[in-house]
Amino acid sequence: MENRIIEEIIKIVGKENVLTSIEDRRCYSYDARTDGAIPDLIVLPSSSGEVSQILILANKYLFPVIPRGQGSGLTGGAVPLNGGVVLSFTRMNSILEIDTKNLIAIVEPGAITFLLQEEVAKYGLFYPPDPASYKYSSIGGNVAECAGGPNSLKYGVTRDYVLGLEVVKPTGEIIHTGVRTMKGVVGYDLTRLFVGSEGTLGVITKIILKLIPLPEAKATILALFQEVEDAAETVSAIIEARIVPSTIEFLDRASIKCSEQANPMGLPEGIGGMLLIEVDGNEEAIKSQAEKIKKIVLENKAIQCTVTQDPKEADKLWLARRTLSQATYNLNPIKIAEDVVVPRSKIPVLIRALEEMEKKYGIPILSFGHAGDGNFHVSIMIQDTAEDREKAEEAVKEIFTETIRLGGTLSGEHGIGISKAPYLGMELSPETISTMKDIKKLFDPNNILNPGKIFS
Ligand SMILES: Cc1cc2nc3c(=O)[nH]c(=O)nc-3n(C[C@H](O)[C@H](O)[C@H](O)COP(=O)(O)OP(=O)(O)OC[C@H]3O[C@@H](n4cnc5c(N)ncnc54)[C@H](O)[C@@H]3O)c2cc1C
Repeated sequence: MENRIIEEIIKIVGKENVLTSIEDRRCYSYDARTDGAIPDLIVLPSSSGEVSQILILANKYLFPVIPRGQGSGLTGGAVPLNGGVVLSFTRMNSILEIDTKNLIAIVEPGAITFLLQEEVAKYGLFYPPDPASYKYSSIGGNVAECAGGPNSLKYGVTRDYVLGLEVVKPTGEIIHTGVRTMKGVVGYDLTRLFVGSEGTLGVITKIILKLIPLPEAKATILALFQEVEDAAETVSAIIEARIVPSTIEFLDRASIKCSEQANPMGLPEGIGGMLLIEVDGNEEAIKSQAEKIKKIVLENKAIQCTVTQDPKEADKLWLARRTLSQATYNLNPIKIAEDVVVPRSKIPVLIRALEEMEKKYGIPILSFGHAGDGNFHVSIMIQDTAEDREKAEEAVKEIFTETIRLGGTLSGEHGIGISKAPYLGMELSPETISTMKDIKKLFDPNNILNPGKIFS
């Protein structure tokens, strides 16, 4: 990038808020999954006005701008593909308002999800979306990806809590979408369009979020099964029984083994499937729901079922699930992580198919995740060899084909970014893709904002 452009950017945000060293720039070239190109510059804006000025410059000099939260994304969304400016929101991380009368919070995009949850809990309030990365991911990144998490089963995903946004359009204009009321239907629903747009349609600079009352109590149930199919059938049985736990998380045999090796919980040998189920609400309701779930779990051949309302005990039961993502790297150094979703009645079919694929390709294929939503994190663990990469690519195609065959979708929460872009046409028709591209063009005629993402 030419020095005169860098000088103009420094005039906007100040020298101390522009990172130029190769060490700094290298740190912004990858996310939790993908390596990209090294950006020319990292810019740390402090206001929507500064973001707007940067985007106006980008249109003048035609350089790419890549918004970035905490870089915990799993599809390369925040990764530059060809230099440009990374806009990092670590300075715009304030919780601006908690309105306890109207149950609303207004935050800047860099606010960390967990810190918001902790803050609102002080007022007896609850912000449910809880990606497993919630301790370090940002609300801006969550909104841009429409993040979900274990709580999605009962409480929905990020989209369901975003009432309104302040957005800087790729051409620099600042717009406000949505409302700070519980309802609002004036004009097109631009808020929904920006949620999940993966930083390609606008830069989110303020977020109005809906809060709900914090549930009074919670019970955690750990169920262990000899056969993975029994765990999968149990998920379907709970849903069919019209019980809505806040969470049903699933681990298959390979995931349990991997987690147990890294952080032993003392589980019996040969466990084929594990479910972690949570119910919340008032004391009365959770007791009766936990009992009903225990009955269903045992009817579906669970060999062990533990129920607790003690938060410390519950933390211990969550150990295997919480530490699994990192533990997978003990198997092999490279992870290809997919997050397919199937109708919940089809969970047993998908799990069986994944077990078959593991045998067929001879590489570890672990599946775990938010089974209550039918959303599975399928992790293919490989060595850095051409042979393994080829096998993984074939396996990914087969997983996607099976998912679509079962009436599912390619991504429940991680988005498309760059890693799933080549597969978009497996799910969407050419007409749908071209409508999406028209929308992108309308907002971003010069293709400045996060180019190369979603569409390959
Ligand atoms: C161990 C682990 C577990 C995870 N578990 C889950 C899970 O359970 N559920 C889930 O949904 N995800 C999960 N993720 C993925 C990831 O954490 C989420 O996608 C998260 O929302 C990304 O937030 P971030 O702040 O790190 O955003 P980044 O990774 O920095 O960016 C993600 C996308 O958002 C865009 N973006 C960021 N900020 C803005 C902004 N202000 N304006 C416009 N666009 C912006 C970026 O351009 C990029 O496209 C997990 C990741 C890891 C590493």
